[in-house]
Amino acid sequence: MKAFKYLSPETIEAAIFFYGEHSETAKYMAGGTDIIVKVKEGWMEPEFLISLKKIREMGHLIKNKASGELSIGALVTHAILEKSLMIQNDYPILYDAVSNIGSLQVRNMGTIGGNLINAVPSADGAIPLIALDGVAQLVGPEGERSCPIKDLFLAPYETVLKPGEILKKIIIPPQAPHTGSAYIKFGRRAAMELPLVGIGVLLTLDSHDKICTKARICLGVAAPTPMRAYDAEDFLIGKTINKKILIQAGNMAADQSKVRDSIRGKAWHRKEMIRVHVRRMGLKCLELINNR
Ligand SMILES: Cc1cc2nc3c(=O)[nH]c(=O)nc-3n(C[C@H](O)[C@H](O)[C@H](O)COP(=O)(O)OP(=O)(O)OC[C@H]3O[C@@H](n4cnc5c(N)ncnc54)[C@H](O)[C@@H]3O)c2cc1C
Repeated sequence: MKAFKYLSPETIEAAIFFYGEHSETAKYMAGGTDIIVKVKEGWMEPEFLISLKKIREMGHLIKNKASGELSIGALVTHAILEKSLMIQNDYPILYDAVSNIGSLQVRNMGTIGGNLINAVPSADGAIPLIALDGVAQLVGPEGERSCPIKDLFLAPYETVLKPGEILKKIIIPPQAPHTGSAYIKFGRRAAMELPLVGIGVLLTLDSHDKICTKARICLGVAAPTPMRAYDAEDFLIGKTINKKILIQAGNMAADQSKVRDSIRGKAWHRKEMIRVHVRRMGLKCLELINNR
């Protein structure tokens, strides 16, 4: 492994300043579970690693009780999200995703921000945050801006972040009543494996728990970047949700996906699993709404 200098600023401004000083050769680091592997394997040879870990304002997990808005600092680890009763109760889709990432050790170190910015098609954290209409707050040399998580990814390992930009936090807007959400990481093994496909569904029903007023069907490893199955979502709006309707939505989502063969699985298998699990996750959403 090539030696690097380790910088550990305590503010976002200082981190951006350090990056500016060494931009050609510097990389940001959060939990290090992705980037340290790349450095050790020699796929990446930064001269400076700028740790963001001491920036306290990026480590907060706060729900505004008055507005219902949730703010997740980019440095919040998967383990913190997994253990939070508020996440377990109010954002089951996020709990389902983060509680199945890697091992306990990986979840203790890995952050939700690092999971997004690493930008692999299999990032488990991306799917629930897209389904929840999350918005990324970015800070860089040119100031602050925001970007919906659904528009954050350009290609595998590539996001819209400009050089020096930092993902500061993710904002989740208030959830409507009568909403249920669920995610499944489908793989051949139960633990320590990236998903063959990841399927997240969020449904909001009207005040009589009958008609669908909002639908999100989000897929991981189904295209070069995490995707929404827009046709299937639109199909559900205005309908009474039942198993038959969800089977049709699952078929539409599978047809919309751009799955491919890889060493971990075949395209046809991925498609079948999307078909099956859109239905199952949809039914789980109904169950959560009915049991609330
Ligand atoms: C054994 C093992 C198992 C794993 N299993 C899974 C799994 O099941 N599911 C899954 O999705 N992932 C898995 N991962 C991948 C990884 O653990 C996660 O993606 C993790 O969330 C990455 O977060 P991190 O804080 O460690 O990122 P880091 O490694 O610190 O950073 C990742 C990238 O993001 C950039 N970055 C980090 N934070 C910021 C920020 N705030 N602003 C700007 N840039 C930033 C870094 O420069 C780097 O390019 C696994 C990894 C290992 C080693």
